[in-house]
Amino acid sequence: MRSRQRVRVALIVGSVAFLAPIWISVYLAWNQAIANEKQAGLAYARDVMRRSEDTADQFSEAIRRLNHDHLVPCSPQEIELMRQIDISSSHLQMIARISGEVIECTSLGTVQPIYVGKPTLMTEHGTQEWVHFNLSPQQSNRLGLLSRDGVAVLIDPASVIDIQKDGKDVGLSLVVPSTNDHVRIVDSGGNFRPGWFRPAAPGSAISFMDDGYIISQVRSRKLDLAAFCVMPRFEAYTQVRHFVAIFVPIGLLCGCGLAWAVMYIARTRSSLPAMLRTAARRRQFYVEYQPVIETATRRCVGAEALVRWKLDGSVIGPGNFVPLAEESGVITQITENVISIVARDLPSLLHQDPAFRVAINLSATDLRSMATIGLLKELLLTSGGSPRNIIIEATEHGFLQGPRSREVIAGIRSLGFDVAIDDFGTGYSSLSCLQNLDLDILKIDKAFVDSIGTDGATSQVVLHIMNMAHSLKMCMVAEGVETESQARFLESRGVEFAQGWLFGKPQSIDALCRLLLEWKQPEKPAAIPMPQPRRAVV
Ligand code: C2E
Ligand code: CA
Ligand code: CA
Repeated sequence: MRSRQRVRVALIVGSVAFLAPIWISVYLAWNQAIANEKQAGLAYARDVMRRSEDTADQFSEAIRRLNHDHLVPCSPQEIELMRQIDISSSHLQMIARISGEVIECTSLGTVQPIYVGKPTLMTEHGTQEWVHFNLSPQQSNRLGLLSRDGVAVLIDPASVIDIQKDGKDVGLSLVVPSTNDHVRIVDSGGNFRPGWFRPAAPGSAISFMDDGYIISQVRSRKLDLAAFCVMPRFEAYTQVRHFVAIFVPIGLLCGCGLAWAVMYIARTRSSLPAMLRTAARRRQFYVEYQPVIETATRRCVGAEALVRWKLDGSVIGPGNFVPLAEESGVITQITENVISIVARDLPSLLHQDPAFRVAINLSATDLRSMATIGLLKELLLTSGGSPRNIIIEATEHGFLQGPRSREVIAGIRSLGFDVAIDDFGTGYSSLSCLQNLDLDILKIDKAFVDSIGTDGATSQVVLHIMNMAHSLKMCMVAEGVETESQARFLESRGVEFAQGWLFGKPQSIDALCRLLLEWKQPEKPAAIPMPQPRRAVV
């Protein structure tokens, strides 16, 4: 992914990371507030229903007591009994004897007949109801009259909805489900709509939202009644404000943390190529040379230039930045740095040994650019070396970059540089690559050298590689030689050159020059280990 693309993705992910926790917290707060409002609505509706059922129970009890004693209807004894029932029943305003549509006497002592007209409705249980009943023209509040088994009671429906509402905009209704249009016995707020009635089992309690309202419905277990609580949805906002005050700061904190982490990762990732570019400009890259020895003589005949990056006092190996440098194109500047360092160091090496050879690693990007040839020409000019003093190394991947890389390689070889295939055997098309490309040196990868002396299948492959190099008349350099037995085996198989920790780790130009100097002075001990039967030939 290109760095601009990466920054764009980071911005998107960062924004999502920032907004998502806030959005989630508001969403959760809203859901929680709605759930709370539904619970509150159901609690109000249950309260209404409890009061209604209590009223119905008191009515049933009045009927039972009046009809049980078989007193003479409207006799002073019965009126006295009515009075006692009236006093002891909190929900009943008046008890009366009724016949058809005429009240004959009441607990208030009235004995004149009162015509009450046609009842508003008849419930499933045979109770007749006069909704909005007026006992006298002076009566201000509207009462309800219930009648069954010759007994009538006057009730105040307002008392069943006279509930503490905690300042909320709550509408309470008591309706008779079995009637057309669900006749309302009582309705506070007046916003109940018959269409909100939901057929549900007796005793059930449900809550739902419609048209900006939260509606809670409770059905009586034993009566033909349903209590409703209707609240505007905005009642939940006040709750949300409360939740938002808790959740949003938490969401903001999480969001900021996440966004910061995403941006930090993106910035360090996207800024690494920029850092590499700056490092190349400031020449923060340097080179260490790993000695290459001739296996037959154990003489140091060359070295491989390996790039290093010094950043804030610590050294970073090429494995950690070369792949990203290749991806971002900074490798070209790094190669320029390495070539100019080699150009600076080569004269002191040639001073020790005019035939000394330095290997330079080129990337796939370098092999696609004709400018590389120009850089190598300049190297020869500034260092005073000959093309025989320089070896160009590239991996199989580097060579297989199409016609342009073939052209560049041909150009390099035509200048007289030897070209080596690096890490040979680790790719897939190694054989065809070797046959098709005109190469001079084959570097046997450390993985194959490690297999020497083991029973693994790779130990057989190394023999094939050697045979192949012989038949193609290529010179061989074994990499990563760490033991004496590996060195002896390689020599016995005609591998001309080797490098590895057995002979020397990558080191500074000064250390390498000192090593070469030691070799020139026979009285000093050799720096490179020697096999017992041999003696070094300088
Ligand atoms: P390479 O070209 O295969 O280099 C050999 C690597 O093996 C080096 O690692 C070296 O330090 C390590 N090595 C040598 N002998 C031994 C040994 O006996 N044992 C072990 N365990 N390791 C040994 P280094 O320096 O970390 O380089 C890694 C890779 O980075 C190189 O592999 C090469 O592909 C790349 N590289 C290094 N310098 C440059 C450069 O200037 N330009 C480019 N394009 N790539 C470079
Ligand atoms: Ca190499
Ligand atoms: Ca290698």
